[in-house]
Amino acid sequence: MADLQTVLELNDLRKTFGALKATDGVSLDVRAGEIHALIGPNGAGKSTLIHQVAGSLAPDAGHVRFLGEEINALTVAQRVRRGLGRTFQVSSIAPEFSALRNVMLSVQSTQGSSFRFFKPVMRDRSLIESAMEKLELVGLAKRADIVAAELSHGERRQLEMAMALALKPKLLLLDEPMAGMGPEGSKRLTGFLDTLRHEVPILLVEHDMEAVFSLADRISVLVYGRVIASGTVSEIRANRDVREAYLGEED
Ligand code: ADP
Ligand code: MG
Repeated sequence: MADLQTVLELNDLRKTFGALKATDGVSLDVRAGEIHALIGPNGAGKSTLIHQVAGSLAPDAGHVRFLGEEINALTVAQRVRRGLGRTFQVSSIAPEFSALRNVMLSVQSTQGSSFRFFKPVMRDRSLIESAMEKLELVGLAKRADIVAAELSHGERRQLEMAMALALKPKLLLLDEPMAGMGPEGSKRLTGFLDTLRHEVPILLVEHDMEAVFSLADRISVLVYGRVIASGTVSEIRANRDVREAYLGEED
């Protein structure tokens, strides 16, 4: 089933919280070059699934394969090192440092050197260039010297994305990246993700249906921990079960 094009493969993943089946036999894959969107109502188990891929939650059963290798036993850090990227929590941004320095620290962490020697770090041209490149990619280059604490909410999310990209991910897990962004910010991020898929495939959890429908190559719909439908945008839009279970409530 898995081939070279399959970057991530989930096979019959299961996770319960007490009596609750938060992940109830989920199988899906993400292929090179695509954005696979995961949608579903609140509490459907989308974040729980992302956590099991990232390694912050262990599944009760099932398999997570990344780049052809089962990674169930790997820690979060080991998965990150293999190229499993995700946006950081806001707390992982150092608020007292500039946007540029935050990204530089991410770049540096891939080079296996110490975090502590800030002065030499700030003089390292290749590090600066590499970090600036990431800031440009997410549209934050003009704000490179601004202290992270002074960035807007939307800009901080852009910064998180730049920091994630600095780790050279081979797959990006994005859990509601548009959340808290205004329509302007969502639009910009949508445009950015659209180009990003060619560099790194994305498993995208998103509530913003306009963004999902414009971005997704494939969509899987999760309801009560189960994938009730999986297909292209037009297939999902036309799916009766999906309309009833999920999309109907949006109208
Ligand atoms: P979604 O991201 O789709 O909104 P979640 O994955 O956050 O859904 O949650 C799925 C279900 O699992 C919800 O009913 C939620 O309350 C429950 N849940 C999530 N995490 C935990 C946890 N750590 N302990 C107990 N229940 C949890
Ligand atoms: Mg969630």
